[in-house]
Amino acid sequence: MTQAQNAKAQRITPRAKDFSEWYGDVITQAQMADYSPVRGCMVIRPHGYRIWELMQRALDDMFRASGHRNAYFPLFIPMSFLAKEAEHVEGFAKEVAIVTHTRLRATGKEGAGAVAVDPASALEEPLVVRPTSETIIYAMFAKWIQSYRDLPLLLNQWCNVVRWEMRTRLFLRTTEFLWQEGHTAHADEAGAEQEARLILGIYRRFAEEWMAMPVLTGLKTDSEKFAGALRTYAIEALMQDNKAIQGGTSHNLGQNFSKAFDVKYQTAAGGLEHVWNTSWGVSTRLIGGLIMTHSDDNGLVAPPKLAPVQVAIVPIWKTDEERTQLSAVGRELKSDLEQTGLRVEFDERENLKPGAKYFEWEGLGVPVRLEIGPRDLASGQVVLARRTGGKAPVPLQGAATAVTKALDEIQAALFAAARERREKNSLRGATKAQFLEFIKGSGGFVYGGFCGDPACETEIKQQTNATIRVLPDPEFRSKEVPKSCMWCGAPSIAEAVWAQAY
Ligand SMILES: [Zn+2]
Repeated sequence: MTQAQNAKAQRITPRAKDFSEWYGDVITQAQMADYSPVRGCMVIRPHGYRIWELMQRALDDMFRASGHRNAYFPLFIPMSFLAKEAEHVEGFAKEVAIVTHTRLRATGKEGAGAVAVDPASALEEPLVVRPTSETIIYAMFAKWIQSYRDLPLLLNQWCNVVRWEMRTRLFLRTTEFLWQEGHTAHADEAGAEQEARLILGIYRRFAEEWMAMPVLTGLKTDSEKFAGALRTYAIEALMQDNKAIQGGTSHNLGQNFSKAFDVKYQTAAGGLEHVWNTSWGVSTRLIGGLIMTHSDDNGLVAPPKLAPVQVAIVPIWKTDEERTQLSAVGRELKSDLEQTGLRVEFDERENLKPGAKYFEWEGLGVPVRLEIGPRDLASGQVVLARRTGGKAPVPLQGAATAVTKALDEIQAALFAAARERREKNSLRGATKAQFLEFIKGSGGFVYGGFCGDPACETEIKQQTNATIRVLPDPEFRSKEVPKSCMWCGAPSIAEAVWAQAY
């Protein structure tokens, strides 16, 4: 065992030993995020933030291509707005941050007590820090929408939201997180339904083609849907510990908010109707999903399309002469690769041995490493090492072609492996006994009949901690339609997918 491998074994807890520890170790080693002095909040470090930027860019292009435009709405929402939609306020009441004052005053004391809230600065109406922006956005829609000609209105915003949490899990559960929230208004139910479905398709495409994270799509049950929605659709992925993660949701809000905020439009025939809304979002939680889908006991594995660094070039020299030569070749190679649009680093650091460099780039999830020494140079080649395993020499001339091909192959292989793992950990046509054994054992997605009774769902959750992730879309359903509820035996209204979830 080399020293680098020794260090590796010490730094990252193996997945099999403690998945949660492993997850934290991967993030720490890749310097993606850190805990902040404020409980519940996280700091996103450059390597993690770069992944978010790349995600943002890809998603934003898709939103734009389908006719959406970006806007920005305020962080603060009048408290009374939240109360206008009954289910909505109930859903968010227990996790909002509230601004009640606007000033501090000096107390004349020393230390932490030197300032105090100035009681004279109390706000007449407290402001809520947005947990989501339906209320403030639809208040504006009421002003902007007058006629059927103003529809559909298709907006999105990239922002932060706050939902008070005491338990922190980096990227997965934090008080403040970054996301996008789309908000649209349509003339009729069909328009809103089509939009909610369109976005679900975009989320799926992004998860699968960019993150290489296979997802199930489908409908949420009433007890799992968004507070204030008519219907909620979601993408759900299975992590390596066989727990599910909800990757994104798309809601058909019906006319619930347009009635609460009086968003009306004049129809072509001259009548007055309430609009139909949708809202949809994905967040920095996706980064948690990316980590838990692909990474291994050596650290982060980033899918090539979202890797902050796609190629790391590591020169191997002994003499000064070799160093001079390899430095020139390495720089040229970097520039060649960059010209094809790749994100490349040339690691010329002198105080670090090649093995230590490999170890670092591995931990950062870099998909391809190019190693080049004097002997490689003499034979006109570089060694291409894949983060996911395998090493082979490729010609130095035209290395970009070989690298691009390798990145495409890695991207496809990550997706295929994740899908295979998901299917291997899915149980179809489960009986109650099989379900219990499976969930309490290795876990995963369980497909079975569902009677539609929320009481049945609650009982399952209480006894197993598993919830219905989705009522899957036709593509994911089992060939044999379940006839009775997996749990209570009553007639089944739909096939459901259960799992324990983040
Ligand atoms: Zn039942």
